Amino acid sequence: MPKVMVIGAGAVAQVTVCKLARRPDLFPEIVVASRTLAKCQALAERYPQARIIPEGVNADNVPELIALIQKHKPALVLNLALPYQDLPIMDACLETGTDYLDTASYEPPDLPLYEYKYQWAYQDRYTQAGITAVLGIGFDPGVTNAFVAYAANHFFDEIHYLDIVDCNAGNHGRPFATNFNLEINLREITQTGRYYENGQLIEVPPLSIAQDVRFPDIGIRKAYLIFHEELESLAKHFPTLRRARFWMTFSEQYLMHLRAFVNAGLTRIDPIDYEGCKVVPIKFLQKLLPDPASLAPDYKGWVSIGVQLRGLYQGQPRTAYLYTNIRHEWAYQDCGSQAVAYTAGVPPAIAAELIVTGVWKKPGVWNVEQLPPEPLLEKLPAAGLPWKAVIDYPPDFIDVPE
Ligand code: NDP
Repeated sequence: MPKVMVIGAGAVAQVTVCKLARRPDLFPEIVVASRTLAKCQALAERYPQARIIPEGVNADNVPELIALIQKHKPALVLNLALPYQDLPIMDACLETGTDYLDTASYEPPDLPLYEYKYQWAYQDRYTQAGITAVLGIGFDPGVTNAFVAYAANHFFDEIHYLDIVDCNAGNHGRPFATNFNLEINLREITQTGRYYENGQLIEVPPLSIAQDVRFPDIGIRKAYLIFHEELESLAKHFPTLRRARFWMTFSEQYLMHLRAFVNAGLTRIDPIDYEGCKVVPIKFLQKLLPDPASLAPDYKGWVSIGVQLRGLYQGQPRTAYLYTNIRHEWAYQDCGSQAVAYTAGVPPAIAAELIVTGVWKKPGVWNVEQLPPEPLLEKLPAAGLPWKAVIDYPPDFIDVPE
């Protein structure tokens, strides 16, 4: 089996490496390359049974990436750095003929707006080069896309309404922290809310729409409509969808801090001048607040992520809810991580297996719903992410015109 290369060594990458390291039969050598070499070295020390090769790299620099890939000749690069690095890493993979995956769509540093157009533009070049790119294979996006594809294959003739519901009901004991990279997380939450309805992209002010949602094992929580990148690809690939929305829960304490940061200008992404130095407020804020990976030891409680669907099956209306519930404590026990990083970090390890064994090897650039969902979903429970499908669940989203 060939080498693989993980780029990034943060909260999500640490989980993926934990999983890859347990499969020396499939991944006999794992290069872990990131900006801070010490984090890559720490992973090599944490998993001495695996052959982990630590490397430092600036993943914004395409020639540097090409040189590193040519040095190690991995069969696959797992991009677990930040969305800003997607295009440089895709360029380097194209140049070296290497398969690629990531967990988040590209977003220009100066424009907090995810759009797949930048990465879909590589379709012809990846196809001609005979290499595979799998986009957005974390949990959401990732497993949520596979849930929709699975439901389309097994439960529906047509899907009309999609609501993706994400609840972190855990408690880490800190006044405020984000569960993955703060800059990316706050850019996502503070941007204009967007959803698809009747082929239109509808925009609403940030966090201006909320609804009570009942989560299994957790109960009712207030969930806020935000934009999430899988809505774009799912609306494109499932044209029968009349509406597609994404909902995420936030505690009052979280929202209180967030409002204060926004009002103080601390979520600004443009550089300001501070005594002759250029400072980007959101990056400064990130330095002050906890590293998401550091939350793991104290985190307790459930995380629930799923898709609620409505449509038709054999001419009759049908609903389905596919979801995963896991506890932060389980993620800590398995990989020393918290559950949000865990839900995002396990699927890329499964996808790596599916790509290197040829199951998901398909030249071109693909969103997860364009690949067979069964092989991914079959492997999820044993990898630590059990899931359930409930048909005809009691609906949360009762405002659907039938
Ligand atoms: P972290 O900030 O914890 O980790 C990011 C890693 O990338 C760090 O190790 C960082 O280096 C490294 N990095 C950043 N810039 C560069 C660069 N220019 N060159 C090399 N390495 C770089 O983030 P997370 O682990 O929380 O998130 C990782 C990705 O996962 C993000 O894109 C996020 O959006 C995505 N995500 C996806 C989810 C999903 O379900 N699909 C859910 C959660 C996250 P350093 O250590 O020096 O800072």
